[in-house]
Amino acid sequence: MAELQDKLPLLLGAKTAKALAGALGIETVSDLLRHYPRRYAERGELTDIAGLELGEHATVLARIEKISKRRMKSRNGTILDMVITDGRRRLACAFFNQAWREKELAQGKTGLFAGKVTAFRDTLQLANPEYELLDAEREAEAVDNFLAEIIPVYPAAQGMPTWSIAKCVRQVLDVLEVGDDPMPEELRTRHHLIGLERALRGIHRPEDWAHLETARHRLKWDEAMAVQLIFAQRRHSAVSRPAKASPHHDGGILDAFDKRLPFDLTAGQRAIGEEIATDLSSGHPMNRLLQGEVGSGKTVVALRAMLQVVDSGRQAAMLAPTEVLAAQHARSLREMLGELGMAGELGAAENATRVTLLTGSMGAKERKKALLDTVSGEAGIVVGTHALIQDTVQFHDLGLAVVDEQHRFGVEQRDALRSRGADSTSPHVLVMTATPIPRTVAMTVYGDLETSALREMPVGRSPIKTSVVPVTEKPAWFDRAWERVREEVGKGHQAYVVCPRIGDEPPSDKSDKRPPLAVLDVAPDLANGALKGLKIAALHGRMPADEKDAVMRAFGAGQIEVLVATTVVEVGVNVPNATAMVILDADRFGVSQLHQLRGRVGRGSVPGLCLLVTEALDGTFTRERLTAVESTTDGFELSRLDLELRREGDILGAAQSGKRSGLKLLSLLRDEGVITEARTQAQEIVVADPALVSHPGLAQMVSDVVDLERAEFLEKS
Ligand code: ADP
Ligand code: MG
Repeated sequence: MAELQDKLPLLLGAKTAKALAGALGIETVSDLLRHYPRRYAERGELTDIAGLELGEHATVLARIEKISKRRMKSRNGTILDMVITDGRRRLACAFFNQAWREKELAQGKTGLFAGKVTAFRDTLQLANPEYELLDAEREAEAVDNFLAEIIPVYPAAQGMPTWSIAKCVRQVLDVLEVGDDPMPEELRTRHHLIGLERALRGIHRPEDWAHLETARHRLKWDEAMAVQLIFAQRRHSAVSRPAKASPHHDGGILDAFDKRLPFDLTAGQRAIGEEIATDLSSGHPMNRLLQGEVGSGKTVVALRAMLQVVDSGRQAAMLAPTEVLAAQHARSLREMLGELGMAGELGAAENATRVTLLTGSMGAKERKKALLDTVSGEAGIVVGTHALIQDTVQFHDLGLAVVDEQHRFGVEQRDALRSRGADSTSPHVLVMTATPIPRTVAMTVYGDLETSALREMPVGRSPIKTSVVPVTEKPAWFDRAWERVREEVGKGHQAYVVCPRIGDEPPSDKSDKRPPLAVLDVAPDLANGALKGLKIAALHGRMPADEKDAVMRAFGAGQIEVLVATTVVEVGVNVPNATAMVILDADRFGVSQLHQLRGRVGRGSVPGLCLLVTEALDGTFTRERLTAVESTTDGFELSRLDLELRREGDILGAAQSGKRSGLKLLSLLRDEGVITEARTQAQEIVVADPALVSHPGLAQMVSDVVDLERAEFLEKS
């Protein structure tokens, strides 16, 4: 009998066990049974030579039709040329310097042949395929494998082809006995989950497709549950700390601010504002993620939260990833607050507060003053970089920390924050991110936070029309693109032309691909060609700061009609009169980057136009990404499409395998139902039993994932 934690040598023999360990890092029964098939073939499918695709790792059942040996012309070696057939089609195979194989690869023999499909002189071939001949001794076994209706195809590795893995799995399943199911029976019943042992058998040797489906469902649940339990525990421990309540004060600075707001809050801002107001009035810390694209109005929401805390006589901190951004935030907060932010200055409003900037590069005197404001509580709002929290900056009474830009602010930093409140309480935490991410990703990546999303843009934004310009298929469209730019300029508007490269870099070495288009080449080309006569200037990140400023100012003032630039225009540039953007070699940019870029041309009262110029061909993965950007301007929808495409890409690139990762079956995209249910379930369990003492199986699942994460972390560092 074999149990999950057993080592493999006793079960499979030392040699096989060593091969599995070496090729795929598989050491235990559990490792092996968690090496799930990559896909399943129905009987007969493996023999289909006609369906082979270039670059895939294929396995075919075929007969050797012809085999011959020849000497290599150029070098001193031999090639074995072999032709195999499935009865209808032929496939060439070649073995280099393996003449000895001629003895066993006799004409007429049948076997399984596996390898990467390559092209040689316009025909497909397998180079140095691995093979398993169906000779008398092995026939029974191989045929047994093929008798199954559904054949698992495993992620294979050199020296460990899929059929060898299948054989090992079969041997182990024959003696497998899973003891107690880690998932309590009550949960299995409630969520219609089959037992673990039946699931493990089903994923490797399904009786039928229905069995496979229930097996996958159960194993996905295990993955989702482990992750969501960890997050539920994190949320629980964060939320059970004490925090000071900061309820809304009638007639305070927040009310005064609302009164002087020059616009109405959007429905989203109002709804999220209420959620946050409720969180802040609780005696436990808020842990909330606020998602919304640049310009969606997050800062207003955050500022209102800060003011509610200030109204309770406490302080709020705003943390930015860089000093430049911190300074920008301080400036825009002061602007929004006006006289409400001028405490201690002439003309301050009655219940005004003070916004203090505190960064490492400030002069000693200034910094001392800022530190003093912070520790005395004079500053209601302190703006700085993340160092504000890591350093030993003393606050008088920190009630709320707003963190801008999630991706540089990890779980550990959030933990550090939690100890910064006065009287050993935790401050409330609001994390803001401008990169929209799908709900399931948020639940999995930021699972320890509650999430809110601003989905609508405030009024005053114009729609942006995006079109792909496929220059290879439709060269005339390229000329049309420049005509469109001329038309926009003719109407008194301005345009951006974005290139992936500056053009002053040393030529890259190995790539024989054309280098991406460069600002320093494109600008003069356009000036002398397609856009002759227009006022054109170049802008890129390696220009001296004063030159950059001069160009930006001239563009802002309308003295430049076409700005040829790198992605320096991605953020911060706000020229409402610019209505067109042509992105050259658009396929060189990421989906979210393209989305950010085009945001520059929807800032005025006129609809924006964004043209994505590419040589990528229809039907390619690169082209599909551009089509996705073309299809929607909803950042959330786009992030979902991007994820979908990327997973597709992962699957394509997953021929190489054996990599361990927590989520093997669960798809953040397709398994939203499982993830949501598991989150609710995990929350329920953890609230009742935070340490999972009455659920040892679940506790084990959690610690397995934690161990795995730790191991991966150690490998990386
Ligand atoms: P974010 O921080 O999400 O990038 P901001 O809060 O800075 O967005 O808002 C972007 C711009 O939109 C600012 O100029 C802000 O004053 C304005 N704005 C925010 N909310 C609204 C609204 N409800 N109506 C009109 N304008 C708004
Ligand atoms: Mg902002």
